[in-house]
Amino acid sequence: MKPRIFITRILDEQVVKPLQERFDVRMWESTDVKVPREVLLEEVAEADALWCVTADSIDSEVFAAAPKLKIVANMAVGYNNIDLEAAKERGVIVTNTPGVLTETTADLAFGLLLATARRMMEAENDVRTGNWTSWAPMGYTGMDVGGATLGIVGMGRIGEAVARRAKGFNMRVLYHNRSRKMDAEVEHGFEYVELDTLLKEVDFVLILTPYTPETVGLIGERELGLMKKTAVLINVARGGIVDEVALYNALQAGDIWAAGLDVFETEPVPLDHPLLTLPNVTVLPHIGSASVKARLGMMTLNAQAITAVLEGREPENRVV
Ligand code: NAP
Repeated sequence: MKPRIFITRILDEQVVKPLQERFDVRMWESTDVKVPREVLLEEVAEADALWCVTADSIDSEVFAAAPKLKIVANMAVGYNNIDLEAAKERGVIVTNTPGVLTETTADLAFGLLLATARRMMEAENDVRTGNWTSWAPMGYTGMDVGGATLGIVGMGRIGEAVARRAKGFNMRVLYHNRSRKMDAEVEHGFEYVELDTLLKEVDFVLILTPYTPETVGLIGERELGLMKKTAVLINVARGGIVDEVALYNALQAGDIWAAGLDVFETEPVPLDHPLLTLPNVTVLPHIGSASVKARLGMMTLNAQAITAVLEGREPENRVV
């Protein structure tokens, strides 16, 4: 019997076809509707490999229901949707997709920063809804990006790619990590600071840490209170890193100027979420890595990892 792979979304044929020739591939029937929990639990019962996306919660219940499972390949660089302890206990390999989405996500992060600073979505909406009445001396005025100071919390692969873009905008770049990146400091002039200093000094705070127990609520009421009243917060990492209630309060009270969010605590963000009522919030539906090239690259890395494990080889991009 061929090893079985369960894929939780319809993925690109050119990537899946070579797997279908060698393995028994089963796939959930939708590209954009999450696989129902009961289907996931039923499918993993016979699966040797699980290929999932960031919206799927691969918790201990899933691992317990999957006695044959050898690998979980996650179509994302973040892997907070997977219970790594449960994977380790059961000897299941977990892989992710770093690198191939770095520049793509950096483009989006910088684009969201520009769109938020210059109120582009709000302005576009007025054009489309007939609310553009006349050129106004102070209409739609925002914050300058060129020459401003950017603070990156989580200066990893994507953070560095954004920082390089910021240099082209003549920005000063401060960053905070748990460890310093001396090479980047020497080569590009990025400056390492403690988190509180970064929050106090910069015009734009960009969150790019992974979502871990340590980063849950990393930016809360106290941290938002340290930021300038004219500052902009951009989150392209994961929703729970920024406390959404504290963020709403800070934006509403004018403690910070605006926020740009590609990620939310609950996704899709509920339509009655208070943040969606604020004009100074620019929102996107978690599209950081959404270029054709990056998404195909992510699928290719997943397919390679699954093939390696099912053929008894060590996969690349192993998380556990
Ligand atoms: P990465 O290379 O691992 O970078 C993460 C950085 O965060 C590292 O430099 C790390 O440095 C720092 N960090 C980790 N824990 C920290 C903490 N507690 N406090 C401060 N800094 C901390 O990862 P990446 O490829 O750049 O991706 C970053 C994240 O972006 C991913 O984990 C993912 O969740 C998110 N992402 C989102 C999208 C999207 O579609 N919106 C797309 C891709 C990625 P130290 O270890 O020195 O602290």
